[in-house]
Order: sequence, then structure tokens, then C-alpha cells
Amino acid sequence: MEEERIVTINNKQLLCLFCDSAEFKKVNTKLNEKWRSSFGGEMFSPEGVAYICKNCGYKHEFYKSL
Ligand SMILES: [Zn+2]
Repeated sequence: MEEERIVTINNKQLLCLFCDSAEFKKVNTKLNEKWRSSFGGEMFSPEGVAYICKNCGYKHEFYKSL
């Protein structure tokens, strides 16, 4: 886990959708198993990155490989 003070996605600063906070904790994430099985169980699940709001805990997920 690493902490980032200012998060930008495609040159736009990420603000929490819920509380407008700009401080997040960065974690690695994967799409869930249910999603994967609908695309065939042998496919690897895409990895993404999630930013969890330090203020309210809202999780923002991004999957750039899709
Ligand atoms: Zn928040």
C-alpha cells in the first residue's frame, strides 16, 4: 500500500465522488470472479488500481487495460 496526496487520472485531479476530498490511499485491485467467469474462466482478470478516500472510505477503481 502506498499513499498519494494528489491523484491525477488522464491529467485530471481525482476528487472523491462522495465528499470531494483529494486525499486517497492507493491499492491494487482486480475485477471480481463473477465478471471473469462471464468472459470464460481461463481469461486472466484485468488488474487495476483503486484509490480509497482517506476521509470517507469511498473506493474509486480504474482499469486502464480494458
Ligand atoms: Zn470521500
